[in-house]
Amino acid sequence: MQCHKCAAVVKQGAEKCGKCGVVRKKMLDEIKKSSIGMDENVAAASSYAFLFLSGLFFLAVERKSRFVRFHALQGAVTLFVVFVTNIALAFVPGFGILLAIVLWLLNLILIVNLFLKALSGEWYMLPVVGRWAWRWATAEKP
Ligand SMILES: [Zn+2]
Repeated sequence: MQCHKCAAVVKQGAEKCGKCGVVRKKMLDEIKKSSIGMDENVAAASSYAFLFLSGLFFLAVERKSRFVRFHALQGAVTLFVVFVTNIALAFVPGFGILLAIVLWLLNLILIVNLFLKALSGEWYMLPVVGRWAWRWATAEKP
């Protein structure tokens, strides 16, 4: 499993996180619920459900869970960029609309992948934006 506080990998059965020292029992209590009462993994996964809008929604409502805020920010930024790129491509004459459709299909695969990773409790980081979202979500005071 991963530490809810610093995202370091914690050995199964370890009493506390070797990196930041957070106690595992507390860790398990804290990972259960997000601040809107949803299961944390479900809330994080839902951040990817409705394009960038769901990410923005969870960014706005989640106050407690770093895990949810991480996935919400990663989802909002990534899916917004894809969304804008898609619209721009659709206006390119010729092959633009074809590229937009291909990008959209790739985007659907990405969303399903991110959804399942979040649901399984993984701090799955996309290149660049993932690191950035992780740094933001873990540095912030709860
Ligand atoms: Zn830790």
